[in-house]
Amino acid sequence: MPFDIAGKHAIVTGGGRGIGQAIAKALAGRGARISVISRTVHEHDGASADVTSEDQVRRAFEACRNKNGPIEILVNNSGIAESAPLIRTGLGMWDRIMATNVTGTFLCTREAAEDMIVAKWGRIVNIASVAGLGGAPYISAYSASKHAVVGFTRSIAAEFEGTGITANVLCPGYTETEMMHRALDNIKRFTGKSDEEAREHLAQSNPEGRIATVEEVAAGALEFITGDRNGAAMIIPGNVLV
Ligand code: NDP
Repeated sequence: MPFDIAGKHAIVTGGGRGIGQAIAKALAGRGARISVISRTVHEHDGASADVTSEDQVRRAFEACRNKNGPIEILVNNSGIAESAPLIRTGLGMWDRIMATNVTGTFLCTREAAEDMIVAKWGRIVNIASVAGLGGAPYISAYSASKHAVVGFTRSIAAEFEGTGITANVLCPGYTETEMMHRALDNIKRFTGKSDEEAREHLAQSNPEGRIATVEEVAAGALEFITGDRNGAAMIIPGNVLV
């Protein structure tokens, strides 16, 4: 029997577009109260923050708590992707990716965990990537950051085991969003492939040989949030647990 999340307060970082927006919609569809945190906050209630800033994260969580109460569900979805061969991966790019994908996830989780520990209940879902479980050319910084998200999730899952708080991680392959469209543009620019060929290239590198939809990723998030699994990684498409 799935857990009823009606009335629960959920923060979705980067919930204004792409995967985060689909997750926010799916949670709202189950009656959760949604706060979105990102640098630009769009359609839902929320607070603006750059997740790389400790001060901004603290203030944004406080604003969300004041509006919707203690945080019961956290989806760490904010993330960036950039690609380059190793020898053209500058320290600036490395630091940007690590700060957003890893430090942002850490800072937001630490904030939410305080409320969850008091309530003896909480759901944390982090968005990593299949690149958090395996490697590929030209994405060493991104892949390292997403491996860190997987390791971080498994460690906090172990730390919270038996407390009522769970932490799980979604590992989508290429998913139809603006981020994926930027990857398509890069492939077309550097290889001369057509849009169709570039899409096929991305699809072939995905589980099940197809591009994922944001709704599939949102369904994976709902499965973790309404269930009691802890410390799992789910590959999408396919919903394979590892
Ligand atoms: P988008 O680029 O469409 O959206 C990214 C979101 O992250 C935006 O809402 C953006 O909001 C927010 N964000 C980025 N940087 C920051 C920051 N410094 N502080 C706060 N928020 C930030 O990406 P997707 O929806 O495609 O990706 C969502 C997540 O899924 C990412 O973690 C990504 O790595 C992961 N993923 C995506 C895949 C794909 O193919 N699309 C595949 C696998 C994983 P704003 O700019 O307003 O701050």
